[in-house]
Amino acid sequence: MTDTTPATAPRAATFTTYSPTTGKPIAEHPVNGPEEVSRAVARARTVQAGWVALPASERREHLLRWKKALASDLDAVAGTIAEETGKPAGDAALEVVLTLEHLGWAARNAQRVLRRRKVGTGLFTAHQRASLVHRPLGVVGVIGPWNYPVYTPMGSIGYALAAGNAVVFKPSELTPATGVRLAESFDAAVPGHAGLLTSVTGAASTGDALARSGVDKLAFTGSPGTARKVMAVCAETLTPFLAECGGKDAVIVTADADADLDAAADAVVWGALSNAGQTCAGVERVYAVREIHAALCERVVERAGAVRPGAEADAAYGPMTLAGQAEIVERHVTGAISAGARALLGGPESVRAPYIAPVVLTGVPEDAAAMTEETFGPVVAINPVTDVDEAVERANASRYALGAAVFCRDRRAGAAIAARLRAGAVSVNSVLGFAAVPALPFGGSQDSGFGRIHGAEGLRAFTSVQSTTVQRFTPPIALTSFGVPAATRERAVRLARALHRRR
Ligand code: NAD
Repeated sequence: MTDTTPATAPRAATFTTYSPTTGKPIAEHPVNGPEEVSRAVARARTVQAGWVALPASERREHLLRWKKALASDLDAVAGTIAEETGKPAGDAALEVVLTLEHLGWAARNAQRVLRRRKVGTGLFTAHQRASLVHRPLGVVGVIGPWNYPVYTPMGSIGYALAAGNAVVFKPSELTPATGVRLAESFDAAVPGHAGLLTSVTGAASTGDALARSGVDKLAFTGSPGTARKVMAVCAETLTPFLAECGGKDAVIVTADADADLDAAADAVVWGALSNAGQTCAGVERVYAVREIHAALCERVVERAGAVRPGAEADAAYGPMTLAGQAEIVERHVTGAISAGARALLGGPESVRAPYIAPVVLTGVPEDAAAMTEETFGPVVAINPVTDVDEAVERANASRYALGAAVFCRDRRAGAAIAARLRAGAVSVNSVLGFAAVPALPFGGSQDSGFGRIHGAEGLRAFTSVQSTTVQRFTPPIALTSFGVPAATRERAVRLARALHRRR
C-alpha cells in the first residue's frame, strides 16, 4: 500500500508484538492515547443508549449470535491467542471453549438475575410497594492481562455487555491482536451495535488514559502492583474499580487422600505446569500431611518429569510469554534452594528462556519468595505438614487469597476444610474446578484483589441498584409529614418499642 502521509505530518506512535516462541516480530499496533481512548468511550456511550433500550431478550439473542460466531471462528481466535502468547494451540482452543461457556451463561441469565424484584416492607411502610432493579452502569473500561487474553477479560466483557453496558477494552500490550479480534468479531456478529465493544491498544499509558476517561467502572485484571496504580487514578474521580489480581494458590492433601494420591498428583502437576504456570489460580504451594508427603512427591515427580515444554504441537506447554518472568522464576528457585529447600525435579538449570522445564521443590521455608510471592512459572513446592490444621494455617498465611484446592477421600470432610480457607474459590478433589462453572463467582481478597466476576455476582458487578417505593395508599400513621400530631408520633414510638422488645 502506498504511504500517502505527508512527510511533515506526525506519525502515530506504534508498538510491535513479538512471538514468545521465535522472538520474531508479529505485528505493529497503534499506541492509542487519551484522545483516541476518549473518542472510543464517547462512541461507546452513544451506542450503549441503543443497546440498553433493547428488550433484554433481544440483547440475549445478539450475544448468543456473537457466541455462535466465536464458536465458528474458534480455530482462528485460538490461533491468534497461540501466536501472541506462545501457548499450544490446544490450550488456546480450550481457553476459547471456556469463554463460550461463560458468554452463553451471561447472555442467558442476565434478564433473570437483573430484573426488577419486589422486596418486603416493614411496620411503618406497609403502605408502600418496594422493589429494586439492577441497571447498567453505562460504559465499562476493561484492562486485561496476557496469560488468558480471551478468557480472563471476557469474564468482565461478556457479563458487562449482558448487563446492558458498552465496553472499551484495553488488552495487554503482549496480546493486542487478540483484543482487536474480539471487538471485530462482535461488530461483525452484532452489526446494528458496532462500537458497543471497542478495543484500544497500547501499554500502561493507554490503560492510564482509560482509567481517566470517565468510564463508569473500571474492571482490571493484572498484578497487584499495577492494580494499586490504576485504583489510585480511579480514586481521583471516584470511578468504581474491580481488581482481579494474582494468586499463590495452595493445595491441601490430607492423609485420607491416600486412595486418591494418583488423582491428587495428576491434578497438582496440571495445576502447576499448564500454561507454563502462568495462571493466576495456578497451583504454586502444596501442603501434604506427613504420612502421605513422600508418596505424593514421588508421584508428582514421576508425572512432572514426563511433561515437556516446547514449540512442537505435542509439547505440554509453551514458553514464558513475558520474557522477564524467567528471571523471577529463577530467583525464586535459587532463593528457595539456598534457603534449604530440596529440588526433587529440575532446579535453576531448568530455566532455559524462553522455556522453563518443570521444577518440583520440597522443604521450602515459608518465608522464601517461592512461598510468598507469585512465581508465575512451572514450579511447585510440596511442603510436609503435621496435620490439616497446620495445612490450613499455612495456606491462609499468604497475602494472596484467590483459589485453593483440597484433596480428601471423604468429600464432606474436604468441603469442611474448604470452608476454613480464606481463598475466594476452592475445589475439592480437583484443581481450578470453579473456573469452568459460569454460575460461580470468581475473585479473591487482599493482594488477589476484590470484587467478583462470573455468575450472578459478576452480572451485578456491572450494574447499580435502583430502589423504588410506590405508595399504594395513604397510611393511617403518616410519619413523613410535619402535620403529624405529636401524640401520633409518640404512639408510633411506643408501638415500635413494644414490638422490637419482644424479639
Ligand atoms: P500487569 O499488571 O503487568 O498488566 C495488566 C494490564 O494493566 C496490562 O493491560 C497493562 O498494559 C496494564 N497496565 C500496566 N500499567 C498500567 C497503568 N499504570 N495504568 C493502566 N493500565 C496499566 O499484569 P500482566 O503481566 O499483564 O498479567 C499477569 C498478572 O495478572 C498476574 O499477576 C496474574 O496472576 C494476574 N491475573 C489475574 C487473573 C484473575 O482473574 N485474578 C487472571 C489472569 C491474570
